[in-house]
Amino acid sequence: MLPPHVVNKIAAGEVVERPASVLKELLENSIDAGAGRVNVTVAEGGRRLVSVADDGCGMGRDDALLAIEPHATSKIRDVDDIEHIGTLGFRGEALAAVASVSRFRLVSRAEGDAAGVEVVVSGGRVQDVRETGCPRGTLIEVRDLFFNVPARRKFLRSHATELGRLRSAYIEQALAHPGVAMSLAVDGKDPDVLPGGADLAERIRAVFGPDMIQRLKPIESESGGVRVAGFAGIPTLARSDRSEQFVFINGRATSAPLIAHCIREAYRGIIAPDTYASLFLFVETDPAEVDVNVHPTKREVRFRQTSAVRDSVIEAIRRALSASAPPRTATAEQPKAGAVAPGLPELAITNLPQSRAFRYPRLAAFPGDPPYAGPRAGAAGHEEGPAAPADVSGDAKRHSPWSWCRVLGQVGGLYVVLETEDGLVLMDPHAAHERVLFETFMKAVDSGGADVQRLLIPETVALQPGDAERVRKSMAELNRLGFGVSEFGENTFIADALPAAFAGVGANAILVETARQLEQAGPRAGPSSGREEAIARAACKAAVRARDRLSLDEIERLVVDLAAAEMPYTCPHGRPTMVLMGFRELNRKFGRE
Ligand code: ADP
Ligand code: MG
Repeated sequence: MLPPHVVNKIAAGEVVERPASVLKELLENSIDAGAGRVNVTVAEGGRRLVSVADDGCGMGRDDALLAIEPHATSKIRDVDDIEHIGTLGFRGEALAAVASVSRFRLVSRAEGDAAGVEVVVSGGRVQDVRETGCPRGTLIEVRDLFFNVPARRKFLRSHATELGRLRSAYIEQALAHPGVAMSLAVDGKDPDVLPGGADLAERIRAVFGPDMIQRLKPIESESGGVRVAGFAGIPTLARSDRSEQFVFINGRATSAPLIAHCIREAYRGIIAPDTYASLFLFVETDPAEVDVNVHPTKREVRFRQTSAVRDSVIEAIRRALSASAPPRTATAEQPKAGAVAPGLPELAITNLPQSRAFRYPRLAAFPGDPPYAGPRAGAAGHEEGPAAPADVSGDAKRHSPWSWCRVLGQVGGLYVVLETEDGLVLMDPHAAHERVLFETFMKAVDSGGADVQRLLIPETVALQPGDAERVRKSMAELNRLGFGVSEFGENTFIADALPAAFAGVGANAILVETARQLEQAGPRAGPSSGREEAIARAACKAAVRARDRLSLDEIERLVVDLAAAEMPYTCPHGRPTMVLMGFRELNRKFGRE
């Protein structure tokens, strides 16, 4: 049997790794105590001092003494209580652990008590307990962390590094509880204050500044007993680390392997691998479905039922990023490699003459904007973003991947190379063209129908039995979308009109391709509006395939239209339209950072 003080020190090692873990535990305790205001003070990266003062319920003398005993908690009584836990703490370990490896002071007064209590502990030994005058609530000061555990102290990093982690721990709780007023004072300087009573958007603005929120799209969805809310960063905002990814599960700043997987999946193909989108993700589900007792620091939780959570989270993020797109599952978006319908020529594009590349002008993403934002500072200055035109308005502009770009040329006879204010972009013109066509067409359909062009000579289309069957099933939707298709018997159809957007493509190509795409979408194409979208997606793909050349003018038109698209980052089937390489990434690659 190990003596208790050894047990405590070992346990402390699990809960308290560094000053930031102390801060996290103290903040969670204040939130659990119902605080409306929490003031944090730190000094020397938290090594010298981490202190948290709250106006919560406070503790009486007996409770205050109990609170620093191991496994003393007011939050659960039985192991079953963990199943429907409503508080952040429940293990009763944190205060005991912190008090055993620091010089610790607790001052607290409960509502209704005439006087407060002060408890002083050093390295786990109680030094002093006395009555004291103090406001309602609790103040906990943790000084000289690990003063009695030299092995641990050695693992602490520089003050700056530890301060960075303290800030992250603070921000995490600030985002999880925007209603609580908070402040952080560092090394005796004036505190940064976050006003209380805020909602998430206000809190994000208060923490990250006004620019951040503009580049986020709201997440809001509920399905299968899982509620997903928060904000998803547009793909161009992706960073090389996770410092702007925040995940909250049932109000707890925590993570789960499953959620990390969902995030990767949702952003797959629209951000570069090894980069991380900014994300503020709140997942709420029945507490009984979440196992929070996986790790002493509660850093990680596990879901009991994984599939409902996975589907809901991926779909919620994807839907947020693509405001106009219907809910789709990730698998439905994976295009089949090389699935080219027979008889359709692959798109070829005129090679841009190399010598002219640098003479191409900068194109404003929105007609009417000045084409050129003025000469820019060196590469490092690019991180500040462009000097945006003053009259920027509208949703599209805010989510646009660039405010200006310049077509530099083409590689492999296919990929278009662009310079933008943020760096380098490679664009797949097929995918981009599909996206632009799709959005234009769906907009026309939604606002009362696309223009229809009658064919001078109706086209006869003979299909294979399977394809014919699928076209037959979609006849109503095809007609609604402006395809004048009717049956001619024996798996043959007559087309006498096409939506103007697809004029010149040929009914044959569109019908064959549409049938194949519907086959791939399968039953997921589901309800009628979903089928219409599926048809439109297919038709756009066919139309782009059937085009044989894009001129330079058309490419320039395309980059402008793409910038204005609602979801510019993927084609309607989920394939990326562009690969972005920001100046930050370039600088890193060249060792400039
Ligand atoms: P846990 O949070 O898991 O219960 P802790 O060791 O963090 O364990 O805290 C022990 C107990 O001390 C809590 O259950 C709570 O009753 C009390 N306590 C801790 N911090 C505060 C606070 N800021 N205000 C009121 N009570 C507190
Ligand atoms: Mg606690």
